[in-house]
Amino acid sequence: MTIPGSGLTIADVRATSVTVPLQAPLRHSNGTHWGRFVRTIVEIETTDGLIGLGEMGGGGASAENAIIALKPYLVGHDPARTEALRFMLANPTASLYNNRTQLLAAVEFACLDILGQHAGLPVHALLGGAVREKVEFASYLFYRYPSADGSGEVRTHEQLAEHARALKAEHGFRVHKLKGGVFHPDYERESFRALAGELDGDRFRYDPNGVLSVEDAIRFANGVADLDNDYIEDPCYGLNGMRRVRENTRVPTATNTVVVNFEQLAANVLQPAVDVILLDTTFWGGIRPCVKAAGVCETFQLGVAVHSSGELGIQLATMLHLGAVVPNLSFAADAHYHHLRDDVIAGGKMPYDDGAIAVPDAPGLGVRLDREKVAEYAELYRELGPYPYDRDPGRPGWYPLLPNHDYADPAIGGRPAALETEPY
Ligand SMILES: [Mg+2]
Repeated sequence: MTIPGSGLTIADVRATSVTVPLQAPLRHSNGTHWGRFVRTIVEIETTDGLIGLGEMGGGGASAENAIIALKPYLVGHDPARTEALRFMLANPTASLYNNRTQLLAAVEFACLDILGQHAGLPVHALLGGAVREKVEFASYLFYRYPSADGSGEVRTHEQLAEHARALKAEHGFRVHKLKGGVFHPDYERESFRALAGELDGDRFRYDPNGVLSVEDAIRFANGVADLDNDYIEDPCYGLNGMRRVRENTRVPTATNTVVVNFEQLAANVLQPAVDVILLDTTFWGGIRPCVKAAGVCETFQLGVAVHSSGELGIQLATMLHLGAVVPNLSFAADAHYHHLRDDVIAGGKMPYDDGAIAVPDAPGLGVRLDREKVAEYAELYRELGPYPYDRDPGRPGWYPLLPNHDYADPAIGGRPAALETEPY
């Protein structure tokens, strides 16, 4: 039987790794983004010359190689058959040793981009249609090392509050997320309270990437429960730990870590541990699985937000199309985007307006590559190579246990020696 399709056929698959500078190195519970993001841009071209764009992380060369290795699977395939891709590339019983979910996501983005261009429709129109024209974002606040010019450090409560005030003034954010797990939770709780005091009337969320013990997580949540919290995100690791936190605080719980597929979503429905599911277009394997997951969340009345895994404009576009079509998007989305100094898309970085970004309306994902920028940042990637995302340049040799009990010292300021050769 021949399945009728779009008439389009994939002819080529390309991948280009780029390094785009950040305003300052971003600290997190496992290490640091060393002043830059390494992302891999995926291009899928059809026999009649349409080019669809995808994007993924993965540290550069290995992501490139993994995408190119899919070429024999993809050439000759109809990009309209995105559901078939799940079984072609990432059948859960076929590839336990070679999880391709994140590759599938980048391929799905590109296929949807092709289809939208072919139909003359934005991707959101292929996904049920937009229910909003713009997506609200939270400020994503990190503790930061100073950049190479000495500016941008965020370590003290005052520096954090000042940073948040500046971002709010520039972009209009009304929701603020503190990425924690860097310093002792008692210090971060004081930081968080100082932030909330500074921006009274706004809303707040805290995310230490799962490194607190269950007891510390409960203590943190109850220590901020009087504030205007959206939720506490992955305070500890594991559904059972999250369930104990949820049972012992009135602050809602959220995750982008322990509910990242449908099996885990089902487990969370049967034995609730998490109130708000942060959908990530990469982690879930594409925009369409996120839309499906949002439907499950709607049915069981779980909250939905959009997760950021560190994006350039292509991935941001996928987040905007997702945000546009999910009726039950109950919280502002997350994005690292405002920490970038530049982007690889034509026209430069998408602007924030009053804390929100407009959903692209051009056909497909609605973003095209600026080839000069891609060449510039591909060269920068070749020059600098990858960086150890899960290492802290300020604490050579350190790595966290779960739960962590060896946090960085907030009294130590300045730029670590290990960043001397880093340009940003
Ligand atoms: Mg998170």
